[in-house]
Amino acid sequence: MIPYGRQNINDDDIAAVVDVLQSDFLTQGPKVPEFEAAIAKYCGARHAVAVNSGTSALHIACLALGLEGGDWLWTSPNSFVASANCALYCAAKVDFVDIDKHGNMCSQALTNKLEYAEKHGLLPKVVVPVHFAGHACDMAEIRRLSDRYGFKVLEDASHAIGASYLQQKVGACTYSDITVFSFHPVKIITTGEGGLATTNDSALAESMAQLRSHGITRDTTLMEHKSHGPWYYEQLQLGFNYRMTDMAAALGTQQLTRVDALVEKRRILKQRYDTLLSDLPITLPQEQHGVHASWHLYVVQLRLEDINVSRRDVFDSMRASGIGVNVHYIPIYRQPYFQRTTGNTVSLPNMEHYYERALTIPLFPDLSSEDMDAVVKALTASLRRC
Ligand SMILES: *Cc1c(COP(=O)(O)O)cnc(C)c1O
Repeated sequence: MIPYGRQNINDDDIAAVVDVLQSDFLTQGPKVPEFEAAIAKYCGARHAVAVNSGTSALHIACLALGLEGGDWLWTSPNSFVASANCALYCAAKVDFVDIDKHGNMCSQALTNKLEYAEKHGLLPKVVVPVHFAGHACDMAEIRRLSDRYGFKVLEDASHAIGASYLQQKVGACTYSDITVFSFHPVKIITTGEGGLATTNDSALAESMAQLRSHGITRDTTLMEHKSHGPWYYEQLQLGFNYRMTDMAAALGTQQLTRVDALVEKRRILKQRYDTLLSDLPITLPQEQHGVHASWHLYVVQLRLEDINVSRRDVFDSMRASGIGVNVHYIPIYRQPYFQRTTGNTVSLPNMEHYYERALTIPLFPDLSSEDMDAVVKALTASLRRC
């Protein structure tokens, strides 16, 4: 089976991890701040806080932004459930904004929803745009709306390290308070499991650094009591053990040296797909002017009006041909847990239209031309079948 995504690991990556295994530190040691400094520099952000998953990064980002019981967090329904769960971890409520043609939170839908929420006292405290497939959202407009309505912006850039928006790397936080990355093996670069938050706000960075390790500080200038001695630390808030290991950080630092090359490879393969698939009854992913997408996913939308097969037929036929197609994403609001706990029966028209037609085909840096041709052949055959 050709998978829809796969990590890229080379000998330097392996050597970096083995080095750590032979050193004095296994959990958070010198490699973690090295990785944080490298990411901050790469993205052009002042601070970076590494943790054990993208989900953990979303959680501590929400806490640092002050999200709590009674507050609203709004996100995109076209995402992994973690983008919404971070609200529920903080006892906040979650709602969803419909998507645009890129599968991203639609800034016009956001505008309309904010106007309504303002009249009814339902404005969100935090909005989480998700850079779907590595294509940046309309961040300038989202930032303008955050200034107007007073919400915080938390970018879920799990798909988007190495992507750019208006000449700046995603993660620079020019249009947001915090940006979060995931380093799960299917993402652009990996640490096995891992995540990271960037910010330009030193108070948010300090708070997130405490929250990842039990809410503890060893910085005497932050302490509430006088230090008892060199062993002394203080717990200032309720945190967690979300620390990244030094093995993971060393792997991440090594992977980061190749991020531009990995993204470029994805962009070249994406273009090849665009050419090979141009005559099929499907809508291909588009890149907006000003956006340099990292193409974590290649999602086509079947033009169901023009064919006499369903998405399920195409999916089954592709899988039977050994192509590991997938669907990104099931609208989060359709998950039983969200329906049960929120009593919410929301259904967003663009999201529903998209979900019925979406199909993710394999895209990763080491995808061979032969495998790519096999994907194109299988897709062509499954769409022509009557
Ligand atoms: C992968 C992913 C996450 C969660 O990241 P983990 O590192 O797996 O915890 C969150 N949001 C999106 C959009 C993702 O794709």
